[in-house]
Amino acid sequence: MDLVIIGSGPAGISAAIYAARANISFVVLERMYPGGKLVWIEKIENYPGFPGGISGPELAERFYNHATKLNVNFTFQNVRKIKKQEGIFKVYAGENIYDVRFVIVASGSVPSKLGIKGEDEFSGRGVSYCAICDGAFFKNRKVVVIGEGKHVEADINYLKSFSSVVWLRKPGVVEKDIFGVSIIKGIPVEINGENSVRSIVVKTESGIKEIETDGVFIFAGFKPSFDFLPSDVALDSSGYVKTDAHLKSSVDGIYACGDIRSGSLKQIVSAVNDGAIAVNEIRKRI
Ligand SMILES: Cc1cc2nc3c(=O)[nH]c(=O)nc-3n(C[C@H](O)[C@H](O)[C@H](O)COP(=O)(O)OP(=O)(O)OC[C@H]3O[C@@H](n4cnc5c(N)ncnc54)[C@H](O)[C@@H]3O)c2cc1C
Repeated sequence: MDLVIIGSGPAGISAAIYAARANISFVVLERMYPGGKLVWIEKIENYPGFPGGISGPELAERFYNHATKLNVNFTFQNVRKIKKQEGIFKVYAGENIYDVRFVIVASGSVPSKLGIKGEDEFSGRGVSYCAICDGAFFKNRKVVVIGEGKHVEADINYLKSFSSVVWLRKPGVVEKDIFGVSIIKGIPVEINGENSVRSIVVKTESGIKEIETDGVFIFAGFKPSFDFLPSDVALDSSGYVKTDAHLKSSVDGIYACGDIRSGSLKQIVSAVNDGAIAVNEIRKRI
């Protein structure tokens, strides 16, 4: 076998489609389900070809069906370790060890969670981790934004152009009302609702408050999913895999695609683009 693709999100499935069509011998290893983060998305409105939008699960199913039509071998195993030995990579997944010349790491990233009650229950039903993806669903509605830092400020600027925004800030942070949004200081405790989010409970200095809202945007950062990588794969300061223009990592033979890659736009369209680029490079080397 020439290649292991780790992850079956948009980057991994795109790589699989290109690899199958190039007659490369490979397997896709996935620890959960096909589609990656696509299956968390209620509606995707920025992927070309779907002017009316498409639900994340439906796009995931289409990607998966496209790959299985090309006889792609999906094996549902968690990759635990990669070791380089005498010029080949040993990829440890489940009970198996795969010996390959090339590895595409398309294992994505996961948003860090607050870990409060209601967060998981209303994820995709009012709780979101992505302003650019989901902000438009809250046009002329009220949202609570949780988080600190440059990226959060950019997200607030984006959201406030069409929504009424309340910024829930950490107690003790220096007031910075440059956005013209209302600010509440406190610690989020619980998200409530029925079919979708209705309110968030916050512990403030003056006691517990329940803020009515249609949405809660949580920006607690993303964590790359990379714990199986050899230690000589160079990462950036946030833990994302550094690559060259051909998406090759610092270890020859290991490529990184999609959200796991340092500098990625972290969108579906960029993830599928990465999968195609990496396979094209590998194809030339086989
Ligand atoms: C709420 C939300 C809404 C979004 N909305 C949009 C949108 O509207 N438009 C848009 O373009 N983008 C959107 N995005 C971003 C988009 O989902 C990602 O950019 C895209 O999914 C990245 O694809 P990926 O293949 O790189 O990673 P992922 O989709 O994260 O897939 C990675 C896969 O790797 C698997 N994996 C991880 N570790 C291992 C391991 N050790 N062994 C085996 N498998 C492993 C995971 O299970 C997963 O299936 C949204 C994201 C979120 C969170």
